[in-house]
Amino acid sequence: MNRILYLLLGIVLAVFGYEIIVQPRWYSSKYDYYFDFTGIHIPFGSAIIVIGIIFIWLALRKKAKDYEDKVLVCPKCKEAFNKKDVPGERCARCNVNLEEIEGRVLRQTSGIEDGAESGL
Ligand SMILES: [Zn+2]
Repeated sequence: MNRILYLLLGIVLAVFGYEIIVQPRWYSSKYDYYFDFTGIHIPFGSAIIVIGIIFIWLALRKKAKDYEDKVLVCPKCKEAFNKKDVPGERCARCNVNLEEIEGRVLRQTSGIEDGAESGL
């Protein structure tokens, strides 16, 4: 849930920063407020966009790290395990050391995407 909030906040900040750069003068009839960011709108807007991108990056990075930390796979029988279920990091059936899954998953995923693109 935290990850989604980070992602939303990042997108909102990035859009807000972009709006400041595109339209530095902003008037609110509701509150009778007039904002004028002319002169500082590019560094100010850029800073807000960078903060937004950092939030988006943190949201995506956290997801990837959680996944890496949790899944192991047996190189012999290809069985996947949760890391917390196998404290010794060995396959109970084959009695071999389990491998971290992240590299395999990335390779397999990119391979499928490449195949789909070349097929078109
Ligand atoms: Zn195995």
